[in-house]
Amino acid sequence: MITVRAAAKVNLRLAVGPPRADGFHPLLTIYQAISLYDDVTVSEADAWSVTVEPTGDLDCSGAPLDESNIAVRAGRLLGGHHGIERAAAIRIAKGIPVAGGLAGGSADAAASLVALDRLWELDTSDEDLLRLAAQLGSDVPFALLGGTALGTGRGEVVEPIEDPGTWWWVVVPNATGMSTPEVYREFDRLNPDLGSHVHLRVHDMTGVLRARDFRLLGRNLENDLQAAALSLRPDLDQTDTDLFELGAYRLLSGSGPTFLGLVETQERAHEVRQQMMDRGYRGIQVATGPVAGAHLVKYI
Ligand code: ATP
Repeated sequence: MITVRAAAKVNLRLAVGPPRADGFHPLLTIYQAISLYDDVTVSEADAWSVTVEPTGDLDCSGAPLDESNIAVRAGRLLGGHHGIERAAAIRIAKGIPVAGGLAGGSADAAASLVALDRLWELDTSDEDLLRLAAQLGSDVPFALLGGTALGTGRGEVVEPIEDPGTWWWVVVPNATGMSTPEVYREFDRLNPDLGSHVHLRVHDMTGVLRARDFRLLGRNLENDLQAAALSLRPDLDQTDTDLFELGAYRLLSGSGPTFLGLVETQERAHEVRQQMMDRGYRGIQVATGPVAGAHLVKYI
């Protein structure tokens, strides 16, 4: 039995271009892995099975329990790559909100690849794992890598960047998940005349991260999908306002609906968490970043 842990991600910058011929949008993004985790445990079995249980006060009902679960798809893909037909029992302990824009499914896929590679003693190269990850989803290669990274292509081409600080996030989930494709459709509707290039001043961001100044990073957080997500879900404006009133820098996570507040210290993060709860919010977590990519935590 093997357990691999994988982290949620935020996009400190998310610049989106017009859709490509294959329907995907070109992205330039700066990913950061934050300390909300899913633990994926795999064990030998004759047939595939999946269970999903929350690690805290989390609604996991959106995660499928059949072979459409991305952790199983990852296992099948890995087996296919090596020309073997094996199955496994997969148990997911979920700490990452489902359909929250935090790439929880991608974390499970990455963890499943690493765990099954070990369980089946396949010794897949890092290069091949990254290639398989990219076939599973745009955010899966970053879930393998962790830390902080530049993502290009549709997000699947990742390159680590230096991020020596410790950043504190207040994570505000929302009970109603959002569909990423729908948010992209709204983005296209709102931006019919995008030029052919995605612009992102990456060098600026490496300097910002190196400065370890939360105000500077706060002023540089930017998500091109935010307007589209808020256009579909005007109710999220209130979360933005509440975090603003409590002095946090705000960022919508990926395609939403999770909002993040960047604050200066761990202590302040816990205060803001409490103040948001006093305002009626539920399921708020404090997280720090950057943290490691998918890694082994238990082997019996
Ligand atoms: P993304 O931004 O990558 O689209 P997200 O972070 O908003 O995703 P996820 O939690 O990754 O949201 O889930 C997106 C959808 O993927 C879910 O609504 C669910 O139907 C499907 N899914 C498949 N496998 C999983 C899994 N292991 N955990 C969560 N969702 C899964």
